[in-house]
Amino acid sequence: MTGVRLGAHMSIAGGFERSIERGLKVGCDTVQIFSKSNNQWAARPIQADEAARFRQAAKESGITPVFAHDSYLINVGSPKPDLLEQSREALRVEVERATTLGLAFVVMHPDSHTGSGEEPALKRIAESVAWVLEKTKGSSVKILYENAAGQGSNVGHRFEHLAGLLKWTGHPDRLGICLDTCHLFSAGYDLRTKAAYEATFQEFDRIVGLKKIQAIHLNDSVKDLGSRVDRHEQIGIGKIGLEGFRCLMNDARLSRVPMVLETPKDEECTEDVMNLKVLRGLIKK
Ligand code: MN
Ligand code: MN
Ligand code: ZN
Repeated sequence: MTGVRLGAHMSIAGGFERSIERGLKVGCDTVQIFSKSNNQWAARPIQADEAARFRQAAKESGITPVFAHDSYLINVGSPKPDLLEQSREALRVEVERATTLGLAFVVMHPDSHTGSGEEPALKRIAESVAWVLEKTKGSSVKILYENAAGQGSNVGHRFEHLAGLLKWTGHPDRLGICLDTCHLFSAGYDLRTKAAYEATFQEFDRIVGLKKIQAIHLNDSVKDLGSRVDRHEQIGIGKIGLEGFRCLMNDARLSRVPMVLETPKDEECTEDVMNLKVLRGLIKK
């Protein structure tokens, strides 16, 4: 038993505390949420009573950590000054909201260079995140860069990109990495066998450092190795398959890391129940 904490992304529809209720219902140890609509810029400020209800529910549930994922509109690597400024401000608000809710971190996508070149974009992203961390000084909320699948002109799909982002951002006490298994695989990092899994994580350790991993997204992949297409599949029935997840569930180096599902699901979260059962069944007693 590795004691790994497993959970899922949960909706906040009906109130922030509903994400905790949903998590409890399917047996989550940890939960990820959007603290606002993921495809809108604006958000109503969080009221004190809403935050208090959520914090109370989270505390009573024993679900920990609870963390946020940023809005899909944010692109702090954009070469367009207007979008860049709007994105930085929106990311600052994300960290502020997470602070109000008492969340552990905000997972963010490094996003795309839209033709401006990888390295300049990575440096813009790092500069933007450093700005947000400065602006939210005093908050304990960390920002985690999520590895990308490498679709279109997205950056963050190579381990070297993640290492560069961490180095150029600074603030190591408030910065980390969220690894998404589907994105790893789509980006060309194999996980299908014990040997492939080991090689991938050894390479990650050499270039980025395993200790930087603060969260993991558990997704199988619809598309093949190196497809650079981001399509999440239920655990074990995608192109990664069960063996890769068995390695992850029993990896003592990562047993401290909270892991959440982002797999397609219905209103009742039926698939979460199924996937959590599959994952827990892989843990060697
Ligand atoms: Mn993500
Ligand atoms: Mn993800
Ligand atoms: Zn994805």
